[in-house]
Amino acid sequence: MKELLEKILSETYDLRKEGKVASYIPELAKADSDKMGICIVNADGECFAGDYGERFTMQSVVKPVILLLALMDRGMDAVRSLVGVEATGKPFDAFNYSDQALKEDHINPMINTGAIALCTLIEGENYNEKFDRLLNLARKMADNPELSLDENVYLSEKATGNKNRALAYMLKAYGMIEDDVESVVDCYFKACSIKVDSVDLAKIAYVLSNKGVNTKTGERLFSEDYARFVNAVLTTSGMYDGSGEFAINVGIPAKSGVGGGIMGVVPGKMGIGIYSPALDKKGNSVAGVKAMEALSRKLDLSIF
Ligand code: GLU
Repeated sequence: MKELLEKILSETYDLRKEGKVASYIPELAKADSDKMGICIVNADGECFAGDYGERFTMQSVVKPVILLLALMDRGMDAVRSLVGVEATGKPFDAFNYSDQALKEDHINPMINTGAIALCTLIEGENYNEKFDRLLNLARKMADNPELSLDENVYLSEKATGNKNRALAYMLKAYGMIEDDVESVVDCYFKACSIKVDSVDLAKIAYVLSNKGVNTKTGERLFSEDYARFVNAVLTTSGMYDGSGEFAINVGIPAKSGVGGGIMGVVPGKMGIGIYSPALDKKGNSVAGVKAMEALSRKLDLSIF
């Protein structure tokens, strides 16, 4: 397996040159686009290659974890009354939603508006406590108590994240959030700034692939229904507005983030974590998507 992973990395590595590291959050521009790592976790354990220990921030890969915690804390009905499940076909930070999309269909939890709204559903006395509970769930899923905040990325995003503030004010204007906007987006900025490596992502994905159970400890972290819900949403909308293409070429529920990470969930089989920070225009790692595709083809992982 290690040889296969190394071969896939060497075959896809050059594609990074076709992409660009995200720079709209200034601190992300410092990422080294020459780094690329991969890890898979399955019943046999972990297998990795390349710069699998290179750390980066989760960015949008945290959205499924936010969704899970909102489901765990408030249940399906509360979540469904705030966010929808239809793919928007728009960029992750788009503003141009119709009144109907906001009022009736609601907003997909894999884009910024949906994830920001869901932060309000997380239990906690205040937004620091909500974030701590989110970090704790990410730590449990990754089986890594060391997961922590990348302070520099967090501050960089907080200083420049006015588009997300504007989206949150739009949610407030539509009555979808009640709390103080700055506190809500602060929780979202921190969530995006949780630092992981490819192994952490693969382990988080592995829990989702195992219907909510951490197979190492046997602990059930969330219900099978929630795992199914999240995996289905990842399939239709986890790869931004490239999700349809990804479903055809790769066929794995997955989530990417502008930090360059991709997490792949192969139901009943494995979790995959990939890192390569040069992104395509939609925000997906160029080499990472191709590596996922190669892995899916070699191991026949497509769920379709
Ligand atoms: N923190 C990023 C933002 O909201 C996350 C975007 C992403 O990874 O899609 O702008």
